[in-house]
Amino acid sequence: MKIVLASSNEHKVQEINDIVRGSGIEFILPPAGFNPVEDGESFEENSLIKAREAWKLSKTWTLADDSGLCIDTLDGRPGIHSARYASTPQKRIERVLGEMKGKSDRNAHFSCCMTLISPEGDTAFSYTGICEGTITDAPRGTNGFGYDPIFLLKDSSRTMAELSEDEKNMVSHRSIALRAVLNYLINEVHSAENA
Ligand code: IMP
Repeated sequence: MKIVLASSNEHKVQEINDIVRGSGIEFILPPAGFNPVEDGESFEENSLIKAREAWKLSKTWTLADDSGLCIDTLDGRPGIHSARYASTPQKRIERVLGEMKGKSDRNAHFSCCMTLISPEGDTAFSYTGICEGTITDAPRGTNGFGYDPIFLLKDSSRTMAELSEDEKNMVSHRSIALRAVLNYLINEVHSAENA
């Protein structure tokens, strides 16, 4: 079963296909012309905007995700602005660490909302995966991307950037949401299509 992933990022498609390998489900890029305007006010809204935009081009099963880092003491920032909080990944980390200087409450979480649209254009399933942790005083680790080097996993001594790809895939917000989507697809859709 092929599902369009509402993203123009080939690496993301590959990463998600690695997680679902062996399930009988394969994610593919949307047709040319996918260019959503992500002007929603939540991960849920942006995920729906992306999913509907890709569905309009493909009219088949379509999945979109929207994710980011939310920090309690910063009222949830960077949140939906995570990708644009400063001009480079390094500067985004510096900005967050600057805003966290002297703060004792360092609780934060990564959030990932996934929205699945059916071939008829209805929202079939939506799920938000959460990964909890705290913000470090300084970056640590070289794996992963984005804010991984400053995100210390709850009940762990390692930052997300100190985990291997496989270890991150066991605990990340994205993999939690994806497992819920897979569960839905395998139980509700894939089995019905093959009945
Ligand atoms: P996207 O919605 O998956 O494109 O993610 C938006 C932004 O959130 C990324 O550009 C990162 O800055 C941040 N982000 C999302 N997921 C992660 C993660 O797993 N690690 C680190 N940063 C992330």
